[in-house]
Amino acid sequence: MSNIHSSSTKPEVKLRHELWRRGFRYRKNDKRLPGSPDMVFPKHRTVVFVHGCFWHGHKGCKKYTVPKTNTEFWIEKVSRNQNRDEKVWRDLESENWEVVIVWECELENKRFGETVERVEKEILKNGETYRKREAERRSIKSDYREICVPSSFSLPLKKH
Ligand SMILES: [Zn+2]
Repeated sequence: MSNIHSSSTKPEVKLRHELWRRGFRYRKNDKRLPGSPDMVFPKHRTVVFVHGCFWHGHKGCKKYTVPKTNTEFWIEKVSRNQNRDEKVWRDLESENWEVVIVWECELENKRFGETVERVEKEILKNGETYRKREAERRSIKSDYREICVPSSFSLPLKKH
């Protein structure tokens, strides 16, 4: 099983290099964030995980076939990974990070192009949504200031 695990790193490097070439800047395996995401795009408030289809149990994927021996052990192991993924996902979202999952099988040569397109689009869209939300937050704040202190109203000076 160990070769399944290590083979997932190569396509990940390919994806990273392609995104870099397209002008995206990221941090690798940022341990300060939940689940230390494979790639962190601070500008777009997005993290990307590249998941091995077997270890994370990619539904309906031919790469995720539970071995015939020790079946229970593998099912248990994969389902533990999935629960951990879900928790990490929730933790990141509660910190306003958007999560993009890329499956190992999506990085195979014949699917690589469309996968990069999808990831790029999602990252850009997330960044746009985040900036819009931040702008709204700022405008709500500025509205509050006007409501609290109308221009015709002058606060009495504090006496010390
Ligand atoms: Zn897959």
